Amino acid sequence: MDKIKIVDLEVFANHGVFEEEQKLGQKFLVDAVLYTSTRVAGKKDNLEESINYGDIAARITKFLQENTFQLIEAAAEKLAEDLLLYTKGLEQLTLEIKKPWAPVGLPLKTVSVEITRGWHEAYIAFGSNMGDKMGYIQQAIDRIRMHPHICVEKVSSIIETQPYGGVEQDVFLNGCLKIKTILEPLELLDFMQQLEREAHRERVVHWGPRTLDLDVLFYDKQVIESERLNLPHPEIPKRTFVLKPMVEIAPYYRHPVTGQTMKELLDLLEGIH
Ligand code: ATP
Ligand code: CA
Ligand code: CA
Repeated sequence: MDKIKIVDLEVFANHGVFEEEQKLGQKFLVDAVLYTSTRVAGKKDNLEESINYGDIAARITKFLQENTFQLIEAAAEKLAEDLLLYTKGLEQLTLEIKKPWAPVGLPLKTVSVEITRGWHEAYIAFGSNMGDKMGYIQQAIDRIRMHPHICVEKVSSIIETQPYGGVEQDVFLNGCLKIKTILEPLELLDFMQQLEREAHRERVVHWGPRTLDLDVLFYDKQVIESERLNLPHPEIPKRTFVLKPMVEIAPYYRHPVTGQTMKELLDLLEGIH
């Protein structure tokens, strides 16, 4: 992707663990690499189509002067979030905050923290087979839409499906969402589990009836195997109730492990070749 760079923007501000640092202030230097497509702006020679680096430099300065953090880690984290939320067309950024006057009592040129943050694409599956099923699902979609760090891009139709996994229970309503988010995978899972708790979901029997189930299907093309989170969700190729709505919103999306598109996976499952 194209980059717009700001190098050594000087900002006098009041971040630090020591009282003197917060009271007297000191010099910080900021580097920002903004990842965006400059193609249209470049072809049309039109600033409206690009990111205005003057605006960004002013926003960085204002943000660092109006807030006080103990750590430059925190300053960088919050500033990156602010820029990603505010700047149209900004997909990712690398931000370095340097502290040349850091009070360590030893001769050094500078200390700094550098982070890379950005928007990620993820797919969420939702399901319900207890109580006011449609109500639980609508409520969850609304709550996801309202989350400041999530942007809902597509919502599939909600389909009725037969229960899965051998437990005797009511039919399900199922569907999928495509989202963009600046949350990390585990933070996204935390939020989905919070919504399940808000819907009074109780984990009684595995694969048993539930008011609301929210699974993270994909997060970019990441492959993760950990205690709390497996990505892609391991059961996707076996589940019509996930693949059908996925085919509706992203038929050509490729499973990062098997390499097959959602359409190919559904055809395989349904015995169509
Ligand atoms: P399944 O995961 O087979 O659809 P389930 O949805 O009924 O079954 P839950 O009881 O909702 O299972 O979740 C069990 C655990 O699965 C959760 O505590 C969570 O930590 C873990 N988990 C692992 N990977 C994922 C994922 N991609 N999305 C959601 N939960 C996951
Ligand atoms: Ca599930
Ligand atoms: Ca689940």
